[in-house]
Amino acid sequence: MRNIGCPICGKDEGRTIYPQTLTPDAKPMAAGPMHDPERVHYRIRECSGCRLRYSSPIFDEAGVRDLYADAAHTNVRSGEEGNVKRTFELYYELIRPHLARRDRMLDIGCDTGTLLDVARRDGFREVFGIEPNPVAAAQAAAVPGSSISRAFYEATVYPPEHFDLITLIHVVDHLVDVNEFLARVRGHLRRGGAVLAVVHNVESLLERLLGERFPPYNVYHHYFFSKRTLRLLFERAGFDVAVLRASRWSERPTIATRPDFFSTRPRCCLRLSAASGTEPSGPWGPTRFP
Ligand SMILES: [Zn+2]
Repeated sequence: MRNIGCPICGKDEGRTIYPQTLTPDAKPMAAGPMHDPERVHYRIRECSGCRLRYSSPIFDEAGVRDLYADAAHTNVRSGEEGNVKRTFELYYELIRPHLARRDRMLDIGCDTGTLLDVARRDGFREVFGIEPNPVAAAQAAAVPGSSISRAFYEATVYPPEHFDLITLIHVVDHLVDVNEFLARVRGHLRRGGAVLAVVHNVESLLERLLGERFPPYNVYHHYFFSKRTLRLLFERAGFDVAVLRASRWSERPTIATRPDFFSTRPRCCLRLSAASGTEPSGPWGPTRFP
């Protein structure tokens, strides 16, 4: 186990909100006999500086990776394809007004390729997906014009300033070195490019109701964002926040800002969802999981 800190403030200072429910001898295996990783959580801390909630200590690098090693199914359950498609269309609508060009898009953690298909139908010439899960990757590869990589994002070799859009659907809260990851994303964006990110909303009504039993409090998640902390993270990483929305489960109003017209910083659209939604099925970084 290793301690991690707040990626916004850069330190591990805060109070413990919930002690860990993971047993000390638990093994980080999705199918392991010790526990169900979706039903246990690490110790959950709240940063004294920015109030970001985060897990610490967490499994070591190999352990975090092992959580995903047995993923042999996709995140789209049979019969739910229509709902998933509508959800992704709604996500895409957020970023659509902020797209300068439609040459290439990259979906990190593309699962079965639903969002790639939505982007392609909106006019993207080439759509790229990263998906380590072989079952999901095979389905994504069937999307016309798609190129799917099963390598980890940090091991990929895309040219700099290559994409007009990069999407991170339920990815950011699973990362460990999130700043390093976002710096890489920024480097892969063209000037005028945009990022769409979706994470769980720790300030949702569901969290208020369920407290420690809020489903995203599990060992797959290292960070639990509010609107404020998600904005801070992306602004600190060099993005202009174009739109910031929370799901109807959130009691807080919607904030929408337009970036400075003359800014050279890439734009991002951020959305926080309640507990439901798709979850990544694989790790997103080779050395800095997931
Ligand atoms: Zn902080």
